[in-house]
Amino acid sequence: MAGPNRPLELTEVAEPAPGAGQVLISVDCCGVCRTDLHILDGELNEPKLRLIPGHQIVGTVSGLGEGTGRYEIGDRVGVPWLGWTCGECRYCSSGRENLCDRARFTGYDIDGGYAELAVADERFCFPIPDGFPDVQAAPLLCAGLIGYRALRLVGDADRIGFYGFGASAHILCQVAVAEGRRVFAFTREGDTASQAFARELGAEWAGSSADEPPEKLDGAIVFAADGALMTTALRASAKGARIISAGIHMSDIPSFPYDDLWGERTLGSVANLTRQDGEEFLDLAPRVPVHTRVTTYDLEDANTALEDLRAGRFSGAAVLHCG
Ligand SMILES: [Zn+2]
Ligand SMILES: [Zn+2]
Repeated sequence: MAGPNRPLELTEVAEPAPGAGQVLISVDCCGVCRTDLHILDGELNEPKLRLIPGHQIVGTVSGLGEGTGRYEIGDRVGVPWLGWTCGECRYCSSGRENLCDRARFTGYDIDGGYAELAVADERFCFPIPDGFPDVQAAPLLCAGLIGYRALRLVGDADRIGFYGFGASAHILCQVAVAEGRRVFAFTREGDTASQAFARELGAEWAGSSADEPPEKLDGAIVFAADGALMTTALRASAKGARIISAGIHMSDIPSFPYDDLWGERTLGSVANLTRQDGEEFLDLAPRVPVHTRVTTYDLEDANTALEDLRAGRFSGAAVLHCG
């Protein structure tokens, strides 16, 4: 990526060398995330330039920097969005490294996985659980584990709404159903394919986000980047509900009457991930078990994958084959 609002270019770059504490990774595949679109569209406006996007990397360790010891050559690892934290700020020192003031993010501040090779700080890599082929594992690394953090923030809601049924919701739906919750899925108007997909994954009800659910919701996660959905979800919620935005960027939230918030309803956001979230979720995913639905593209077709994501042309997640 050379700058915002331009398609990605396929180019040859120098091979990255792992620095101290870093591993070199031969990238097998990399998941495509809505955040990548926000970066390309200039909505997250401080990326490193030129930038290699991609923060759901699955690959094999093929080189070790000085002072590493966590992995061996040949180990299969995943690299998530959180690429580095300072370890010293008030957030890092209180178990909230996801909020680190100086955090660096993969595929934003650090070159990511839309590439054949990548380097990553070994402390922020995760072992990939057995039983997940590379391509199936990639969407776990952001769609799965930031969604998992959002699900925890919603609390123990029994009737849970998902607004936007894409990569993240399709994983979280399986987790929520396995936890015995009742899932209500909201999609774009007329997107009957996503609604059918949600029911197939165990959602009790699926409809358009303009529809009233058959019962009030005890909590909701808003995955779509439309701020108006925060107030839509609030109006569909029961007393005590927590409504969590899971996206890194959202259009403005329209004003709404206080009565909609009254009754201890809460609006909130989820930001990034901690390494603990990653460890917990990657331990949980094979036990659910989560099955990811994936549409694959070759690395050179990254722009097509991103435009298909924008237009909602596939169900589940998109993954680039890089190796
Ligand atoms: Zn910090
Ligand atoms: Zn992401």
